[in-house]
Amino acid sequence: MARQNKTLSKYSVGTGDRFAHQAKAQLRACIQALDHGLEIVPVWNKSNREHTIIGSDPASVLHAAEAAVKALGWKSPWFCDADHITSETVDRFLDSCDFFTIDVADFIGQPAPAVDIDIFLRRHPELTGNIHLAGVKEPFTITAETVRRTAHKFLAAVKKAGEVYRKVENAKGAGGFIPEVSMDETDRAQSPVELLIILAAIADEGIPVQTIAPKFSGRFNKGVDYVGNVPQFEREMTLDVAAIAHAVQEYGLPADLKLSIHSGSDKFSIYPAIHAIMQHTGAGMHLKTAGTTWLEELIGLAEAGGKGLALAKEIYAEALAHREELCGPYANVIDIDPAKLPSAAEVRGWTSEQYTSALRHVEGAPEYNSSVRQLLHVGFKVAARMGRRYLDLLEANEAVIARNVTENLYNRHIAPVFLGVSDAISMKQNAPAAQSR
Ligand SMILES: [Zn+2]
Repeated sequence: MARQNKTLSKYSVGTGDRFAHQAKAQLRACIQALDHGLEIVPVWNKSNREHTIIGSDPASVLHAAEAAVKALGWKSPWFCDADHITSETVDRFLDSCDFFTIDVADFIGQPAPAVDIDIFLRRHPELTGNIHLAGVKEPFTITAETVRRTAHKFLAAVKKAGEVYRKVENAKGAGGFIPEVSMDETDRAQSPVELLIILAAIADEGIPVQTIAPKFSGRFNKGVDYVGNVPQFEREMTLDVAAIAHAVQEYGLPADLKLSIHSGSDKFSIYPAIHAIMQHTGAGMHLKTAGTTWLEELIGLAEAGGKGLALAKEIYAEALAHREELCGPYANVIDIDPAKLPSAAEVRGWTSEQYTSALRHVEGAPEYNSSVRQLLHVGFKVAARMGRRYLDLLEANEAVIARNVTENLYNRHIAPVFLGVSDAISMKQNAPAAQSR
């Protein structure tokens, strides 16, 4: 019997679960969306870096997801994502993952051989000149020089993606997994014109890419709001969506190819734009959220009080003491102001309420502290080192933690992005009143 090709549904959400204890709580957020008539497919993602820091194995992600799907009777598709893998790290993900985020950022800018560039240019005369994209007034005007420069910069990376793709294909068979190509962890954003040229190269390479993660302009820091020009982001994303639709037609890429937005958690100020673009164009979307579930675990522990609160404070103190070591691997995606970090002694005196309102991401709330949030975001290594002591408290406080995890994923992410309901995430209307009291 022919194997059925795996396809991602139109809307999907990537969720991280560092300690593999919240899959059910996350899935509940997708069930809430289904109750509102929208299928949002969950994708549990975990990078090799995360596995290494925690000391976990890709199979643990699959087992946690399977257990959640079974317990809650989820009938729609779901996936496990080998997030940001390379040819060096992919092997141990082959058995347990069916979604592969092929990260080629390190190869961007490595010059491709001149012969490859010439072949690409000869093959793609259609990329030069005026290209009219459906639904966009101004055409792309692309010079031969732009095509050459873009090929020079990205062709080696795309070839590398092809190499990793074929490695996975050999193990899992064509159609047996979702291939994503990610280019977000690099220093410069790709323009929509570059995206179109990259997609032509990806098609040449024979990768049936289903999601593509470009780097957008602006800052996508971990677990905090977008920093950048929102109208510019909106223009860029609109053109990216149009470029993708054009590439699907022109190069025979999978019809459901869609954008994947990485570090997508908590980008509240661009969610209305993302939702509006999906509404106007009918485009799908993969929203990949980062490790904010772990922060909800801390919020739940703090809310529980007693030993939970004490442990949450201890984690803060340890994270503060090892700030530089913890921040190192994430230097490009966090902006902590050390002057805004309270001392460990001060935090030791906090109530549950003080801890949760410093950490919980409510823009405009006076107590919210984005430096504390980012420090704790990268501080999961501290909890990983605690081992059973941390996990036992997670289990003892499951109900309060699960409530926070589900609410965060549904109210702050799924509802504004996919359903266009934003009121749950902002206290901007309430904040001035709270301050004037
Ligand atoms: Zn990424």
